Amino acid sequence: MGVPAAVGHLDADCFYISAERVRNTFLLGKPVGVLGNQGAFVIAKSYEMKAAGVKTGDPIWEAIVKCPHGVYLKRDFRWYEVLSRLMLDVVREFSPEVEYYSIDEFFFRVPSDSERSLQETAEVMRHRILQQVRVPVTVGIARSKTLAKLISDQAKPFGALALVDPEAERALLDRTAVQEICGIGERRAKRLAEYKVFTALDLALANRKLIRSLLTAVGEALWFELNGDPVLPLYSQRPPHKMLSRGGAIGKPSADFNYIWGWLVRSLERLIEELEYHRVCAGRLETWVMHYDGQVGVGKVELNGPTDRFDLLLEAARLGLRRAWLPRRTVARLNLVATHLQWPGSVQRGLFDPPAERAETLARLKREVNDRCGRFALRSGATLFVNEFYKDEAYSYEVCDVRGKICF
Ligand SMILES: [Mg+2]
Repeated sequence: MGVPAAVGHLDADCFYISAERVRNTFLLGKPVGVLGNQGAFVIAKSYEMKAAGVKTGDPIWEAIVKCPHGVYLKRDFRWYEVLSRLMLDVVREFSPEVEYYSIDEFFFRVPSDSERSLQETAEVMRHRILQQVRVPVTVGIARSKTLAKLISDQAKPFGALALVDPEAERALLDRTAVQEICGIGERRAKRLAEYKVFTALDLALANRKLIRSLLTAVGEALWFELNGDPVLPLYSQRPPHKMLSRGGAIGKPSADFNYIWGWLVRSLERLIEELEYHRVCAGRLETWVMHYDGQVGVGKVELNGPTDRFDLLLEAARLGLRRAWLPRRTVARLNLVATHLQWPGSVQRGLFDPPAERAETLARLKREVNDRCGRFALRSGATLFVNEFYKDEAYSYEVCDVRGKICF
């Protein structure tokens, strides 16, 4: 039969909530909230909880006032990943070209030799995922990625809609505010408003050169996409990382050196796991310190040569922290960023590096023990100051540990 060239976007509805409901049907139809790592903030909510006025980002003490009968659960990214990969398998049954965009979002090329119409494809995929994974999803199909995502955003929840007719596209763009387009943030929207571009349709009908001058090539690509020309590539294989990073909120804000250092070493060990997994070495290590008062400090340390060695990176982190941390100031968040990544094959050993043999033996031993006994079974003594976070299951696996996604 043959169908027009089209791209689909599949997005799970309230994914974390739906995932919890898969393993606990008691939660079906009830107001459910999933909490962030310290159980302090709502990071996802069911439609029932949303109706009670709870918003994503609300602290738990406000949420329970708004929704006292809600069920509040700690997030479990390991479980969400299991379901995410099952969904990915189903999407691949429909398309050989799938982009694993985020833990619950996928872009896919609709094969042109499909026996089904585009609308049927959207409906059958939605049905198959519900049947096999028991997660409700919304599917949007269009002429470009940007259009497909706009369609699925508007068709939620449990929608299935294929839209390739230009007239129908225009109607959709006309009722879409420009900041709802993925890639248009507040700053860009403000810029566009000066030129009376308020809706996605205004953007699509605007002069392309004007859009390029206002929003650079990024905006121009969106202009093409909104006009039905698919210019954004579909990444069915993740491109190599330009940087790798680990870190985030440090439990409770603190000005205690041992506690802060413990967190930094924890992040470093997790960062090294990533370097090893991707088989790359860091040429530079950046330490980012977000202080409680909002000030941000950065310590960039060039390494003598690209490395994934704990001892060398530890020294770089120590120096980075010294540069980034405002003395005695309370710290809220820490991030370690490895940049200037290189494949080990192209790495030349630094002349002044301490001998590698001991460090390599230790790294191998650590890997072997942890592979066998659990992820953090053998770790640096510095992390004893943040021991409580190793005992908490919710901390053992973060969303950034789900590999292969394009979004980060
Ligand atoms: Mg979703």
